[in-house]
Amino acid sequence: MQWSEDEITDKLVKKMKSEKKVKDSRILEVVEEVFDYRTLMALYKLLNEGVIKRVYGAVAAGKEARIYWAQGSQDEDLALKIYLVTASEFRRGRLAYLEGDPRFRRLRGDVRKIVEAWCSKEYRNLIRAWEAGVRVPRPIARSGNILVMEFIGDPEARGRPAPLLKDVELENPLPAFETLKQYIIALYRKAKLVHADLSEYNVMVRGDELVLIDFGSAVDARHPRALEFLERDIRKIFLYFARLGVETGDPGKFLQRCLQER
Ligand code: ADP
Ligand code: MN
Repeated sequence: MQWSEDEITDKLVKKMKSEKKVKDSRILEVVEEVFDYRTLMALYKLLNEGVIKRVYGAVAAGKEARIYWAQGSQDEDLALKIYLVTASEFRRGRLAYLEGDPRFRRLRGDVRKIVEAWCSKEYRNLIRAWEAGVRVPRPIARSGNILVMEFIGDPEARGRPAPLLKDVELENPLPAFETLKQYIIALYRKAKLVHADLSEYNVMVRGDELVLIDFGSAVDARHPRALEFLERDIRKIFLYFARLGVETGDPGKFLQRCLQER
């Protein structure tokens, strides 16, 4: 017997509803509305394999991905980063430029492939960063366009993400600055990665801990533009802390240190 994509979507949504895998009724609206059937399949695979037990609502929405709060088999909090793939969504994001490009006639299939490749790249970047000892959300799994990782939560409220550096008033910014410099060095020297989108928007603050997120654009240190990205990352972080009154020193000197230090 063969089913259409719509029928499969319908069945999956019904199944997830009946098994109470999806708790929040708002997420079901979202699920039915925007998740295409392959995203649902990817989600269902994670549920079936026991990687996740339950999915709650979206906690953050960007141009290219939404972050959902979920729970694992041990009731531990997890974050799902679900990359958006439906036409109405990518029209607004980075993929918009693909529309109308004659090389992407089979748009839907091609967009899917590209999005899954990004998701997979972010997952592998996180693994490299984690293994190099840089504080990032612990990477757990990847299924299609869904990345599963440790939830970096606000200690005050379960299921709420910890605040971003840009929204926090640090009592003492100097140690945070030093920590971020250590992360940049370890990323470059040990993980052989450049974040390439580093700023106060992609650093979460949980208590004394700084956690780097959003590794989708990170590149290998051998990437032709790696140095340019590294320089930009450093400049942004130095500028942010300089504005807070930290004597940051010269970003150019720090760049040299990254490149030379053993
Ligand atoms: P985007 O590409 O949309 O910027 P991010 O990876 O930066 O994607 O995630 C968007 C937002 O989701 C973040 O600003 C943060 O608030 C939240 N977030 C991301 N990762 C996690 C996580 N592991 N745990 C909790 N919240 C997260
Ligand atoms: Mn981000």
